[in-house]
Amino acid sequence: MIQIKFPDGASRSYEIGSTPFQIASSISEGLARNIISAKFNGETIETVTELSTDGDLTFYTWNDSEGKKAFWHSSAHLLAQALKEFYNDIKLTIGPAISNGFYYDVDFGKHAMSEKDFHKIEKRMIEIAREKHQFKLRSISKKSALEYYSSIGNEYKVELITNLEDGEITFCDHDDFTDLCRGGHIPHTGYIKAVKLMSVAGAYWRANQNNKQLTRVYGVSFPKQKELTEHLELLEEAKKRDHRKLGKELELFTFSNKVGQGLPLWLPKGTELRERLEDFLKKAQKKAGYKQVISPHIGNKELYMTSGHYQKYGESSFQPITTPADGEEFLLKPMNCPHHCEMYNAKQWSYKELPVRYAEFGTVYRYEQSGELHGLTRVRGFTQDDAHIFCTQDQLNSEFKNVIDLVLYVFKSLGFENFTAQVSLRDPEDKSKYIGSDENWKEAENAIVNATKEKGLNYKIEYGEAAFYGPKLDFMVKDALGREWQLGTIQVDYNLPERFELSYIDKNNKSQRPVMIHRAPFGSMERFIAILIEHTGGNFPLWLTTNQVSIIPVGEKHKIYSEKVLKLLENDEIRATVDDRSETVGKKIRESELNKVPFMLIIGDEEINEKIFPIRAHGGKDIGKMNIDDFIKFIKSKSSKMIKDF
Ligand SMILES: [Zn+2]
Ligand SMILES: [Zn+2]
Repeated sequence: MIQIKFPDGASRSYEIGSTPFQIASSISEGLARNIISAKFNGETIETVTELSTDGDLTFYTWNDSEGKKAFWHSSAHLLAQALKEFYNDIKLTIGPAISNGFYYDVDFGKHAMSEKDFHKIEKRMIEIAREKHQFKLRSISKKSALEYYSSIGNEYKVELITNLEDGEITFCDHDDFTDLCRGGHIPHTGYIKAVKLMSVAGAYWRANQNNKQLTRVYGVSFPKQKELTEHLELLEEAKKRDHRKLGKELELFTFSNKVGQGLPLWLPKGTELRERLEDFLKKAQKKAGYKQVISPHIGNKELYMTSGHYQKYGESSFQPITTPADGEEFLLKPMNCPHHCEMYNAKQWSYKELPVRYAEFGTVYRYEQSGELHGLTRVRGFTQDDAHIFCTQDQLNSEFKNVIDLVLYVFKSLGFENFTAQVSLRDPEDKSKYIGSDENWKEAENAIVNATKEKGLNYKIEYGEAAFYGPKLDFMVKDALGREWQLGTIQVDYNLPERFELSYIDKNNKSQRPVMIHRAPFGSMERFIAILIEHTGGNFPLWLTTNQVSIIPVGEKHKIYSEKVLKLLENDEIRATVDDRSETVGKKIRESELNKVPFMLIIGDEEINEKIFPIRAHGGKDIGKMNIDDFIKFIKSKSSKMIKDF
């Protein structure tokens, strides 16, 4: 018998040779129907793999990312099979699952394959799927594997096999198709009910530009047709909400190759939006005891040698700036932390003065490969809403709770309702790679876990995910389209206080090292605004949006009165504009809609006589008539519902 342990801690014994599928069946029929993949002692296996030792077993269904991985990787086998049937002399290379589907890289040789061919390939994949072929993994010797692929003239697979250990090589068979594969499949092809090929692109063999360019075919598949339909709808919606498209339409930011790739230029409307966000956070931070500081955009190379950032960013980022002085070198700031450490070092601190909290909207520069640049989410110059807290070890728990409060306040005010927390701790098996004493680590880890618990966060713990210099807490936020973004990191650091020899005098008059916390609720202003644009589709929360009200005079003679209404709104700090162009009311309403203005006030004869105005909300909804005082109250209560004081 073998002893099998499950993730919930339960343990049961089974016959030697039992498979995950049989074990699942012994628990419940429903579970057996749903499992499509499994992990045994940390390794992905097949649901039909026979288990011969004791160990930890985890089942995966379509709802787990591991389950999707097996599903999509198996679908890649179907794609390869179908392609091989249509173009028999092509050379297959690799076909992995990715975060939103799968691809296969193929050397099509003399054949040309394009999107026009997608339909027939999809159709054939579904035919194969319906035949419910099992995926069967079999071991093969290195010699036989090399012979097989040499005989069919596939130099790519030969190269892959050459780099594998004899004894660890497996082939996967299904139907009459065979592929080199290390496993991780769903039980049979019949689980695949819907397939869509998404695109073709060029891809170099082994991602090396000196190698041959292959054709990468991207696809996605689902266990239900309905899920494919929903997926395609979400992709359509994501296209409409793309921050690069909306940023241009709403005139928020632009890029210029003359200025340089990856260097965003904030236009007036975007700048206003960004400043409003900064002011919002500054106000809350002031209440939370932070002091605002400012540091320069460059720093002496020595500074980053001390901090260790030169070792990390130096070679692969912007190169040092030289000066007329011999040997003097400066770097564009890749991080704000070293500057803040030197600010802390400007005086001797007493324990009574701690914690010290320095906050700065600090712009940093890192050289990203041009292929990696993407709108505002991947740039070469960006501004962090950075802060560093210098505190005693005892203060970690309360400081952590304060930072969590601040992060939650940001999420709530901006309409991010759906998030989870991830606590990253040391690898308990290998403590040697972490800096700082064992005792401090234990305390810090407890402080984070307890703070997370006390704040009632929905969290999970990841062992081995901590940085070498300290444990951390990350927030994973789900946007309106269900996509996950990492926002709001809080990180403990024992390394920089050591490197910069930071100190304070404790109550026994002895010098001690403070602990440092790095934190940034937005992360970077650029990336955060990009996420916010896509989350809201450009319909920002009322308190944040640039133009809250568009005043639309019906005709020429209503303009003066409209200006009066504008003044009244402005007196109450409501942001409004008068659209006095000689266009029809219908056109003005449509354009206000496109510009995502939340409210429209239409002003004609009747309105002026009665002093009440029909109000239209974004989306064309008529919300009745109000006089101007009531309208002001209405807008104010609407904005303050979202943003309460910190
Ligand atoms: Zn496979
Ligand atoms: Zn930092």
